[in-house]
Amino acid sequence: MTPGIGPSIGNPHPGFGLRVRFDSKALDLVSADYSCPCGRAEDAVGHAEVQALVVRYGRHRRDDCPIPAIRAAGAREYAALQHSLSKRRSK
Ligand SMILES: [Zn+2]
Repeated sequence: MTPGIGPSIGNPHPGFGLRVRFDSKALDLVSADYSCPCGRAEDAVGHAEVQALVVRYGRHRRDDCPIPAIRAAGAREYAALQHSLSKRRSK
């Protein structure tokens, strides 16, 4: 469905990370995909699916990724996210 995400073995400049796209003509239409250096990749279309994908991406990086550096970065990002959320809530 989304071309260009396949395995990136042999590609020194793969586009790792999370991408979310909004279609400006159809505000209801949102799609996202991510790819991780460990080879995991997913895509999703639709608000609920995209939200679930973002959560899965965060959890994969924090908990599931076999690459320690990714888990360390994921834990930092997750902590920062929790921090900003709790700060917003306590206002
Ligand atoms: Zn990974």
